[in-house]
Amino acid sequence: MSNCVFCSIIDGKIPSDKVYEDELCVIFRDIDPKAKAHYLAVPKNHFPTLDAMSADDEKNIGKILKTISGLSEKLGLGGGYRLVINQGADAGQTVFHLHIHILGGQALPFDDMR
Ligand code: 5GP
Ligand code: ZN
Repeated sequence: MSNCVFCSIIDGKIPSDKVYEDELCVIFRDIDPKAKAHYLAVPKNHFPTLDAMSADDEKNIGKILKTISGLSEKLGLGGGYRLVINQGADAGQTVFHLHIHILGGQALPFDDMR
């Protein structure tokens, strides 16, 4: 989608600090990190929220989770990490291209689930 910031990052029209890419997803550093290590795993296929996820997207998300697991040591997440999907307005979703926040690189607080 032409007006989607994450599609523009995937297309290379907006620069990003990319740490991984394959045919299904890109992983790059969040521009406004909420933890010492904060990455976004973004499926290449544009869909705004979980509600719009197709059967293919569903399978791909599973593969992307496995990719994150395989990269965790390399990304400095060996001590553990938190995955977050902000779904919709009440969760504070601001970019309507589904993405998985990967938070870690430190002991994470338990009272702030974002
Ligand atoms: P949401 O609130 O939609 O779950 O999260 C969107 C995230 O995307 C935010 O953490 C925000 O900092 C990040 N973000 C928004 N625009 C950009 C950008 O242009 N580049 C990068 N690297 N991150 C972005
Ligand atoms: Zn998009």
